[in-house]
Amino acid sequence: MKYISTRGSAPTLNFDDVLVTGLARDGGLYVPMEWPQFSPADLRRFRNLSYAELAVEVMRPFVEGSIDDASLEAIVKGAYQDFGHPAVAPLKQLDQGLWMMELFHGPTLAFKDYAMQVLGRLFDHVLQQRGERITIVGATSGDTGSAAIEACRDRDAIDIFILFPNNRVSPVQQRQMTTVDAANVHAIALDGHFDDCQDMVKGLFNDLAFRDKMQLSAVNSINWARIMPQITYYFAAAIALGAPDRPVAFSVPSGNFGNVFSGYAAAQMGVPISQLLVGANRNDILARFMTSGTMQMRGVEPSLSPSMDIQVSSNFERLLFDLLDRDGGAVARTLTDFRQTGHFSVSQGQLARAKETFQGHAVDDATTLARIKATAAATGEIIDPHTAIGIETAVALAANITDPLVSLACAHPAKFPDAVHQASGHYPALPARLADLMERPERLTVLANDSDVVKAFIEEHVTTGGTL
Ligand SMILES: *Cc1c(COP(=O)(O)O)cnc(C)c1O
Repeated sequence: MKYISTRGSAPTLNFDDVLVTGLARDGGLYVPMEWPQFSPADLRRFRNLSYAELAVEVMRPFVEGSIDDASLEAIVKGAYQDFGHPAVAPLKQLDQGLWMMELFHGPTLAFKDYAMQVLGRLFDHVLQQRGERITIVGATSGDTGSAAIEACRDRDAIDIFILFPNNRVSPVQQRQMTTVDAANVHAIALDGHFDDCQDMVKGLFNDLAFRDKMQLSAVNSINWARIMPQITYYFAAAIALGAPDRPVAFSVPSGNFGNVFSGYAAAQMGVPISQLLVGANRNDILARFMTSGTMQMRGVEPSLSPSMDIQVSSNFERLLFDLLDRDGGAVARTLTDFRQTGHFSVSQGQLARAKETFQGHAVDDATTLARIKATAAATGEIIDPHTAIGIETAVALAANITDPLVSLACAHPAKFPDAVHQASGHYPALPARLADLMERPERLTVLANDSDVVKAFIEEHVTTGGTL
């Protein structure tokens, strides 16, 4: 498979180069040159596959020419073998026509594990083949950092340094980053806020000498290899509920638009997906776009669903590329404008095309809490605030939908115990395999918010020269 940039002027690359490059050189995001196609007969054939077997089928065309079949199988098998549920992504029926797909059975209890576990192994495989190594540096306010650490621990070709604001992440999230006992993992508590962590990481990447010397790399969702593995669970849910003979709709709590874009990809590949509902919190830029066709930037406000507190959804660019008929020049002009003016609009025709698949809906904190409470009362299921936004969106828009509707449960309730307690009166328990998380010994380094100090720490701890 060849990949092209959404801004039209970066080189066309193979999968392995896309993986290692991340952001395209023209500032765009890489997308496959064409969508692999699966026929109704293919989907029927997939009915008896395990989750990992299905993942291999779905990803094979995307990595063709870069990763051989046996390696892909080993990578996928390793990625999902320690998940906490034999079905990996189990479906639960909540109501007539409404299902929830649990995407929190990975090591850090949020859906990001489903891609990150594959990504870490892909990186390791490709880098070892090339005789290269990388240093992953990232800033986190929670979910992404822990998922990245779990995915990169003990990988031979990777060192990982994750910065989080000292004393400013939840106890569960902190322990998920600091109790990983692996020599290549470094959790750094920076004296400062999340923005200081982000600025620090940007500064490290902008120091080109340091960046090249350390082979710095990122694992955020602009990387195509973060999107690709997520396509599998859309196939799995649709097939379980009757595809190819019956279409299915999804409700997806969204922030960076990475998760729901994977659903769009599944639809392009032949899965009958009639609707993708985009759930938002009070940071509702996406929901407003889906109604008006105008993307209008506003400030980010904190909410009970912090993983969706996002102003500009980086993966929306991949959808925009298709809406603008894959005209990279037009995407580049639109987004340069957006950066300068804080808004852009698509035409009525383009909006109508987006609306054939997407509908947006915003949910405030009070309604989020009410949905957690109502779901517990009606079904006995304790859900987290992000999951609640997906289900609330599904319920709010259900009148327009006749197909089975699957709402994605993106985090385990024990990751957000305070909001769940506020809504339901219960503190949700961690799953058994993490029950002793709060007692495990922590390993972290507190560093001053000073780039010389952080650089010195990275240089000192990176595995230089080494075996490769
Ligand atoms: C990351 C995250 C989201 C947002 O997903 P996007 O792919 O950024 O749209 C929603 N819920 C949870 C729990 C998350 O961790």
